[in-house]
Amino acid sequence: MRTQIVAGNWKMNKNLEETEALLSELSAKLPDTHAEVIVAPTFINLAQSQRSLQSSTIKVAAQNMHFAENGAYTGEISADMLLNIHVDTVILGHSERRSLFGETDDLLAKKVKTALEKEMTIIFCFGEELEDRKSENHFSVVESQLKNALFNLDARAWKSIVLAYEPVWAIGTGETASPEQAQEMHSFIRKTIAEAYNESVAESVSILYGGSVKPANASDIFSKPDVDGGLIGGASLKADDFIAIIKAI
Ligand code: PGA
Repeated sequence: MRTQIVAGNWKMNKNLEETEALLSELSAKLPDTHAEVIVAPTFINLAQSQRSLQSSTIKVAAQNMHFAENGAYTGEISADMLLNIHVDTVILGHSERRSLFGETDDLLAKKVKTALEKEMTIIFCFGEELEDRKSENHFSVVESQLKNALFNLDARAWKSIVLAYEPVWAIGTGETASPEQAQEMHSFIRKTIAEAYNESVAESVSILYGGSVKPANASDIFSKPDVDGGLIGGASLKADDFIAIIKAI
C-alpha cells in the first residue's frame, strides 16, 4: 500500500496574516483522511506555519532549498535551516524553478544528494513541456529527467522520495492532463524505475500528479491506479477547494 498524498504548493502567495488564516481554516475543516496532507508556504512564513500546525496532522514543506551546507550564497536557504525549524520535507525540481531560475538536472542531483544526506523527504517534480508532447518526446524527456537527477541513487534512498509528475503545459493553465494521460505516464514512470532498480522500489514510490488539479477533476485523476495523490498549486490557496481535493482521495 503506497502513501497517498495531497500537497499544496503555495508558490509566492500569501503574506503572514493570510498564511495564518488559511492554515487555521484548513485545520478546522480538515476531514478524516488516510492521505498525508502537506502545505508548502513561502520560506518567510515557514517557521510560523510549523508552529501553527504543531498539533495538526498537516505537514509543512519547503518549496526549494540550496545544496550547500552554509556559506556565501546570498538569498539562499540551507537544509539545516529548514531542519532547525522542524521542516523535513522539500519540493525540488518544480518546473518554475527549472524554467524561471535555470535549475538543471545536475543542480537538482546535488540538491537531492544534500536532502538525502540530511534525511529529508523530497517531493521531486518533473514533466515535459508542450512541444515535447506534441513531438511525442514526452516519455523520453521524463525518463531523462528521472535518470539525470535520481537514478544514481541507491535503492534505499527511494524510501525518502515522492515523485510529482507535472506536465508543464498543465501547470497554472487550467488545462489538465486527462486521467488517462496521467495514468499512462505514471505507469511508464513505474516501469522505468522497475527497469533501473526493481519492482519493489517501483511499486513503493508514491507518484503524485500536478497541473490544474481542482475539486471538479480530482477524483477522476486520483482514481487511476498509479496516481497516488496530487501536488496542487492554485486550488491549494482556497481552503474549501483544497479540502474538497483532500476529500476526493
Ligand atoms: P497548478 O500548479 O495546480 O496551479 O496548475 C501545480 C504546481 O505547479 O505544482
